[in-house]
Amino acid sequence: MIIIPKSSVYEEALKDNMMDSTFSYRVIDLYGRKIILTEGQTPSSLPMDSDTALLVNGNLYSKEFKQEKTVVQVDNVSIGEKKLIIAAGPCAVESEGQVMETAEAVKKMGADMLRGGAFKPRTSPYSFQGLGPKGIQLLMKAREETGLPVVSELLDISDFSAFRNNVDMIQVGARNAQNFTLLKFLGQLKTPVLLKNGLATTMNEWLGSSEYILSGGNENVVMCYRGNRSFENYTRFNMDIGSIASLKNLTHLPICADPSHPAGRRELVESLALGAVASGADMLEVEVHRDPDNALSDSSQQLTLEMFNRLMKNVRKVEEIVRG
Ligand code: PEP
Ligand code: MN
Repeated sequence: MIIIPKSSVYEEALKDNMMDSTFSYRVIDLYGRKIILTEGQTPSSLPMDSDTALLVNGNLYSKEFKQEKTVVQVDNVSIGEKKLIIAAGPCAVESEGQVMETAEAVKKMGADMLRGGAFKPRTSPYSFQGLGPKGIQLLMKAREETGLPVVSELLDISDFSAFRNNVDMIQVGARNAQNFTLLKFLGQLKTPVLLKNGLATTMNEWLGSSEYILSGGNENVVMCYRGNRSFENYTRFNMDIGSIASLKNLTHLPICADPSHPAGRRELVESLALGAVASGADMLEVEVHRDPDNALSDSSQQLTLEMFNRLMKNVRKVEEIVRG
């Protein structure tokens, strides 16, 4: 249960009730407010009158809890304001030349952030697994050269030391969308999190994942829609524009869309990106590679630099109409 205390009487009463072992609580600061979160059966002896506390029905991600739209700050980039934010870069960091060239090109074409995976979740253990900490170091070098903040996927808590004080935004991938241990860990940080939906999570399950991060006290969560598994296999995943519209109804958190993974084919990426922006996405995450045909992962969906340039021009036109 979420309780917003109005007086210190409340915390005193909570302490008194700690004798009940099935009940626990913790206090966090979120969006400038002190909040008490309880777990288990709330004791009936707690004061529940409107003078001492406000009880929130629902979740921290919900509009019942917070009406104003949240803006997540990633270094100098504000996600959730009027400007559409674009994160672009390779699926995986492969070499210094590859990441530097791609970073400089996407920056020139108007990207706001650099994406790149150093720890890759691959279907086969025999496929390229990413450069690991060396990949993060190369992203840092690209950030230094271009000034673009960096988003990269954290696959496992044990890899976090490479990310600490380096990566500006931590991506939770589709395969980890309900890894509650990882989500709780990220809740203890202040680092912004780009939270993807799972391959087959419902809206409620995905938003529940955001709640794990928020309830730890990390208020910097961006929801990133990356499509769902469906029966269709011409596209890689089903990009449901209704999911973006639903998120806008259900949460104050900023919304990102990843058109690359659902497309699965580079010639489809721009259309999906335009649809996502028209539906209200605050941010796009797009895979771009200087030589996609020879990429070590997601080769068929990564855009060439030329295709990304065209996408940017057309996306700005839609942005002007829907956000201008
Ligand atoms: C990625 O961004 O490269 C990635 C693996 O994405 P997802 O987790 O959405 O499949
Ligand atoms: Mn990828």
